[in-house]
Order: sequence, then C-alpha cells, then structure tokens
Amino acid sequence: MNAASKTYDVRTHGCQMNVHDSERLAGLLETAGYVDIASLPADDRGEIADVVVFNTCAVRENADNKLYGNLGQLRPLKQRNPDLQIAVGGCMAQKDRATIVERAPWVDVVFGTHNIGSLPALLDRARHNDEAQVEILESLETFPSTLPTRRDSAYSGWTSISVGCNNTCTFCIVPALRGKEKDRRPGEILAELEALVSQGVIEVTLLGQNVNSYGVEFGDRLAFGKLLRACGDIEGLERVRFTSPHPAAFTDDVIDAMAETPNVMPSLHMPLQSGSDRVLKAMRRSYRSERFLGIIERVRDRIPDAAITTDIIVGFPGETEEDFEETLRVVRESRFSSAFTFQYSIRPGTPAATMDDQVPKEVVQKRYERLVALQEEISWAGNREQEGRELEVLVATGEGRKDRETARLSGRAPDNRLVHFALPEGLAEAGRPRPGDMVTVGVTYGAPHHLVADSAITGGVFAVRRTAGGDAWAALQEQGAEGAVAKPSVSLGMPRIGAPETVETSGPACGL
Ligand code: SF4
Repeated sequence: MNAASKTYDVRTHGCQMNVHDSERLAGLLETAGYVDIASLPADDRGEIADVVVFNTCAVRENADNKLYGNLGQLRPLKQRNPDLQIAVGGCMAQKDRATIVERAPWVDVVFGTHNIGSLPALLDRARHNDEAQVEILESLETFPSTLPTRRDSAYSGWTSISVGCNNTCTFCIVPALRGKEKDRRPGEILAELEALVSQGVIEVTLLGQNVNSYGVEFGDRLAFGKLLRACGDIEGLERVRFTSPHPAAFTDDVIDAMAETPNVMPSLHMPLQSGSDRVLKAMRRSYRSERFLGIIERVRDRIPDAAITTDIIVGFPGETEEDFEETLRVVRESRFSSAFTFQYSIRPGTPAATMDDQVPKEVVQKRYERLVALQEEISWAGNREQEGRELEVLVATGEGRKDRETARLSGRAPDNRLVHFALPEGLAEAGRPRPGDMVTVGVTYGAPHHLVADSAITGGVFAVRRTAGGDAWAALQEQGAEGAVAKPSVSLGMPRIGAPETVETSGPACGL
C-alpha cells in the first residue's frame, strides 16, 4: 500500500525532549509521504489517522497503565480496520521493548529513543511482513538533529544541544533510557539557529538534560556560556531560552553570559529537587542547598529582573519532617516565580525504587499540600510585584484557554511569565497583533499563575511591533485549509560539521 495517501497522528507525552522528538517524527513521516491528520479540514479527517504514533514518557507514576490504557482504546478500531498502524516510541518503548507487543499484540511497531529515524522503514516493514517490528538500539546512531523536522510553531523553536545525561540521580530513569550525554558541536547548533531564523523563528529554547555540562564531551567546560554569547550575534534571533541547567555544574561564566547577552532572556529554570542536604545526597545530586542559594543570589545580583523557576520532589524515600522543613526554607529564600512540584512515586528501574524507607502516601500528600500552599503565596506575591510594569510580550497561540471569552490575547513576557492582555477598543484588524508579533503592554493585575495586562482598555500603553515571526505565522495561515492546524513545512536535517558518522555511547548509568 502506498504511504502517499496515508495520514498520521503523533501523540506526545512527557518532557520537552519528547515534544521536540515528536517534531522530528512528524518531519520523518511527512518526508515519507504521510500527511498530518490535523492539517486536513475537520470534515475530512475520518475516525482516526492511518498511523497513530505514541511518543511515550516513563517518568510519571502509572506511565505504563496510561500507555496500555491508550493502546486498549485503539484495539477495537484495529480489529475493524487492520490497515490501521500503531507505533510506540519514546522512553516507555525503550524500557519495555518487546513486552509492549506481548501485552498489546495489535501494536505494529515499537522503536526506541535512539532510533527514531527508523520509524517510516519499520512501518513499511510491518505492513509488508504483516508482523510487528520491534527495534530498540542501545546507543545513538545519528544525532537526532540530523533528521527532518516539522516544527509545531512558525515563530518559536527548540534546538537540542545535547542528548542523554552523565548524572546518576537515583530517582531518574533518563540515563538508563537516553544514555550518556552526547554534545553537538557549537557550529552545528549555530547553523541550525541561523536556518530557523531565516524561516521566521524569533525565539529558540536550547534543550539538554543538563545544559551546563555541555562541552565536557569535546573538552570545553566553558562551552555553554560561549554558546549563549554566540546566540547574541545571530541577527533576528530575539529571544533565547534554555532548559535545564544542573546546579552542580552551574558556573559563573554562564551567569555573566546571560547578563551580558541581550537576547538571552532573564529567566532560569533550575531544578532544586530537595532543600535537604541529606536527601540531596540520597538522590545522588552532588550540590547542597547553600550552593543552590548562592547561584540564585548571584543570578539576582547580575540579572535583577530574572524569574527563577524550579522542580521539587516531595517525599523522596527517607525524607523526614526535618528534611521537608529544609525544603520549605530553601523555597522561602529562593522566591521562585513558580515551581513544578511532584509527589515522589516509584519509577521502576531507578535505584530509589528499591530503597526501603519509602514515605507513606498520606504523609507525602500533606507535605505536598504545604509546599504548594507556600509556593502559591510566593508566586502570587511575585506576580503582584509586576503590577504597573511595562512588558514586551511575544504573542502566542494556545497560551490562553479563556481568550475567546475574555477577548484577550496571550503570550510570554521576557522572564517567561504568562501574560493575558486586552486590545484597545475598536482596534482595526490590520492593527491586531498576530502570534509571533511583540506587544508592549502595562501589567494591571498580578494573578497567582499569570499576569493580566489590560492597559489598552484605559488608553494606557499598547504598542504592536510586527516581527518576522508574525509574518511567518501569517504566511502559514494562508496555506492552511479552513479549520486545520497549520504548521511550518518540513525542514531537512542539519548537516553535521566535523561530527563522526556514528556516535557511540557507553552503557546505561542507572544500572539497568
Ligand atoms: S541530572 Fe539527574 S534528574 Fe536530570 S536527567 Fe540527569 S540523572 Fe536525570
């Protein structure tokens, strides 16, 4: 059967790495002739796409129940339509491998985190041989940025600077599933950024499990700060963000680069995980709370407007009330603008999963509620401090669920706070900002989780700056079918500069 007329649907779970990998899966499928089902008018989409791809995550509690639940829902459809193909990739696939086709024999393809480029060939082979194909590699064959990509946004993009992680945090499955850290060469990254900007992208997020250790592989410990500074030389690149840095590897040259490079945004997401030194040790995170607070102090000193966000795990095995109080202390002192808070849950395959002093669920729940209440108070106070400020907002799609009811538009401030803003009454269509444009507005209210900037209603500040990002978004809308989701066309993978043909990684770090 010819793939040319077939539709696909990539369903993504998990972190930004997966979101970006899904852009590559979409790029690969488009290059092979498949069509994104969301790009068709709603009436032409049928019951389901011809190929459904799950890009899975293994870190959340019940990740496997969710996956098998999702697969179970497709079973009757597959029984009715044997031509439907179901593929499972991502971290659960890397972890469970052939078990997936044993538990869900109606799955056609299982592929791992190291071989996403094989998906179209595996789909063909499964169709041709009428047999499920399971292909999991232990190490990266090709850096994924060399694959074609179909980006989700016209004006904003992700760029991987590294994949994998050399740390061995005891709660984390990443080293086991994504392998040791592999760094891309700066020249390749910058070439990709230039290419993105030439297509209208004005904001990029540099992605890596541990961006501060970027460069260790090719012998330059200062490479990340240098990369940020080099981003500052790319004309047309208005906003640079990155995620995530590790506190143990955070060096002051990165703070200097952030402070001295105007297009590097004043926002920092730095995972704390716990404020207790004892728990950090058990987590095998090699920094201590004083070091963490020291980084925050230096960032605030050099970049006073910086918004700092974090991740915190509550109820790690062995966490006592005293340990938890330490987390509350560090949270109070850090004044995070927001925090992703997680209740510890056993992730099979991690060292922490077999620690015997697991904290009872009720205790974890209570501590979690106390932490969330404290952080909400801090977030809200921080947002109220923004009232009266003028901010330049990058207008975005999909950020404001209530925009239609409230007649506002939404976007992100430089420090990454979510902003909902009103338009001046009677604004002509031609003066309306498009997603990808920049709008300067005044903050009128700091809500717990976002800012409201209704300055335009009372005749206050409201200035639209049209950007190449807005132009790129508008051009896409003209191409897209009515009611369909318009996405940028597929860009070919970036050529490698001086990188070896095959990148080998060593065995998993988590002992799986
Ligand atoms: S730094 Fe720790 S938590 Fe982060 S990916 Fe590496 S092992 Fe996992």
